Amino acid sequence: MTRNEARARDAADPLRPYRDRFALPEGVIYLDGNSLGPLPRAAAPALSDLVERQWGDRLIRSWNEGWIDAPQRIGGKIAALIGAHADEVIVADSTSVNLFKLLVAALRHDPARHTIVSETGNFPTDLHIAEGAVDCVPGAQLNAVARDELDGAIDQDTAVTLLTHVHYKTGERYDMAQWTARAHESGALALWDLSHSVGAVAVDLNGAGADLAVGCGYKYLNGGPGAPAFLFVARALQDRLASPLSGWMGHAAPFAFADAYAPAPGMTRWLAGTPPMLAMAGLEAGVDLWLGVDRDHVAAKSAALFDLFAAIGARLGLECVSPADPAQRGSHISFRHPHAYALCQALIARGVIGDFRDPDILRFGLTPLYLGYEDVWRAGEILGEILATAAYADPAFSKRHAVT
Ligand SMILES: *Cc1c(COP(=O)(O)O)cnc(C)c1O
Repeated sequence: MTRNEARARDAADPLRPYRDRFALPEGVIYLDGNSLGPLPRAAAPALSDLVERQWGDRLIRSWNEGWIDAPQRIGGKIAALIGAHADEVIVADSTSVNLFKLLVAALRHDPARHTIVSETGNFPTDLHIAEGAVDCVPGAQLNAVARDELDGAIDQDTAVTLLTHVHYKTGERYDMAQWTARAHESGALALWDLSHSVGAVAVDLNGAGADLAVGCGYKYLNGGPGAPAFLFVARALQDRLASPLSGWMGHAAPFAFADAYAPAPGMTRWLAGTPPMLAMAGLEAGVDLWLGVDRDHVAAKSAALFDLFAAIGARLGLECVSPADPAQRGSHISFRHPHAYALCQALIARGVIGDFRDPDILRFGLTPLYLGYEDVWRAGEILGEILATAAYADPAFSKRHAVT
């Protein structure tokens, strides 16, 4: 594709108007929206309204004017993006904390089952939290195996499978319906981590028969740094699972101030403490942007941006580790390179922001709402120049930062 062809694709792109709804800095090609989504223009006024009017002026009255039900309200909007009913999703805590709550609940659900089955190389927090969850439930254990050993690992002792729908490094995507059915065949629950899926690829939790899910607010949902996360529990399970973090906001009647805990019906029981309203306002601005988006357009453009980048990578001799088949991948593309870290830093120095994943992965998020074909084309030009001149060999680009 030539630069002019890329421009023509942008001009004909039905998602192009969404780009203007983000405050993207000049001179930056942002290929890291899968790590931290950019700032929606609506977020700053929403946050300033929250601070100045809702907090400053309305003070505590705001709890009854839209704050207290924000976790359910925003959860209901996210539900529409992931094939769930509005009353199956709630916003709370971080992805890590939500994972903990659901894993402990799943382990306690059927005392005859003791094992969490997950994948080695899963996103670190998923495995770390699973370790912590099994420590809280007597007899429980974690069995993390390679992807090709998963089928054999799921058995009559499996309480829950914990799989990340789209892999954070390679972008590989599980067939959610197939692996949910596999868990059910052994009588286990299926828990999906949607952090790299929601807002990136089609997700149909109920269509797949999924039991449980968690997902992230600050990646493709553009909810702001450290935005609250969400969790999903299928209707049929909602009264049978209880949160181990039995806080008052998940109580059936928090303002009855009772000594004894009684879980609220539905998803509310997954709340522990008071919702962080500043962060919730940022998340809602990000989620609202998604409401009118045609998700077929998103999927088609994600696939096309990927193909463009894959062709550039092939021309530059880079090893692509992401699947070629759009149905088997998410919305980022990853290349393996021995100097991946320095390459990434050299790109950032030239305004092309992707990221590095240890030990040798160069990762680029392809976010159809605000990224254009010409952006990808330009990023490819700059990457080609860095490779051709070995500009990444400058020692300055090898200095490791705390966050990669
Ligand atoms: C980003 C991500 C998380 C994030 O967890 P936090 O609790 O928000 O830090 C969890 N799981 C996966 C798979 C992720 O990609």
